[in-house]
Amino acid sequence: MALLEIENLSIAVRADTGLLPVVEGCSFSVEQNQTMGIVGESGCGKSLTAMAIMGLLEGTQVKVTSGSIMFDGKDLLQLSARQRRSLMGNDMSMIFQEPMTSLNPVYRVGDQIVESLRQHRTLSLSQAKSRATELLDLVKIPDPEQRMVSFPHQLSGGQRQRVMIAMALSCEPQLLIADEPTTALDVTVQREVLELMLDLQRSTGTSIILISHDLGVIAETCDVVAVMYRGRIIESAPTSELFASIQHPYTLGLLNSIPSIDSEVEWLKAIPGRVPTLQEQLHGCAFHPRCAFAKEECSHSLPPTTSVGEHHQVMCHFANELDLEPGQLDS
Ligand code: SF4
Repeated sequence: MALLEIENLSIAVRADTGLLPVVEGCSFSVEQNQTMGIVGESGCGKSLTAMAIMGLLEGTQVKVTSGSIMFDGKDLLQLSARQRRSLMGNDMSMIFQEPMTSLNPVYRVGDQIVESLRQHRTLSLSQAKSRATELLDLVKIPDPEQRMVSFPHQLSGGQRQRVMIAMALSCEPQLLIADEPTTALDVTVQREVLELMLDLQRSTGTSIILISHDLGVIAETCDVVAVMYRGRIIESAPTSELFASIQHPYTLGLLNSIPSIDSEVEWLKAIPGRVPTLQEQLHGCAFHPRCAFAKEECSHSLPPTTSVGEHHQVMCHFANELDLEPGQLDS
């Protein structure tokens, strides 16, 4: 049994005009010790899917309208708020893009880790302090005793994100969701933070969902990939299979937009157009206004999801028919 199984998940936001769908019919699973990547542009529904898994939509204008989220055999959508809270931190943790918004600026770093540990574990104050120092050492923060008494603004961006990783892993969760964990960091620090997460995963066996808009980051770190566009998973596959045989024009567009260090380019390549807003009524394939392969039926008929390999699925009317090669569609 997979650690996390999401079946037909739909999420909508309340608006004056009624409920506007933001995620529609998403299904995927994450195995024990697996790293899954969810990739797509802003506004594709990646973060809302993660927040639904963590139970963070409660009390907001966004709600799960259908589907199920099974975690370790429990249907999360059927649990009480108290039961969900006890899972968070203990069994599931999340780190966000900007650590400064998650760390309290007026409390010392060590006190924040100690508080998180004591909320979820029965530890004395001195045991929690000693564990917090160990955790800072584990995430390779130099001079951890000294950093325990630092305030967040006294740390670099990379160190703050390491503190968040330490807090997220403090209770050895079964699942860690990392939502754009390196986007706010310098390029050189990005790689260090990703490598740290993967090192810790290898030693703890935690499963990871890594959310990113960068297909390059996903390619380097994930075992399986789900590509999201306008609230739907439009392609999913094991990472090696996906890159060996891209089947959706949007995935190809994401791949082509990764700059190459081997060749000089005057302009970075971008997918023309933009993701449709929630207010825009969609008919047919949501990608059709931007798709170089679109045909007449794409504008009015929703494409089916088709299996094109053992674990490779694609949502396109012309699955397995398009000749999609990296570099294609270059202008
Ligand atoms: Fe492009 Fe049509 Fe496939 Fe959508 S269904 S990705 S518009 S070819």
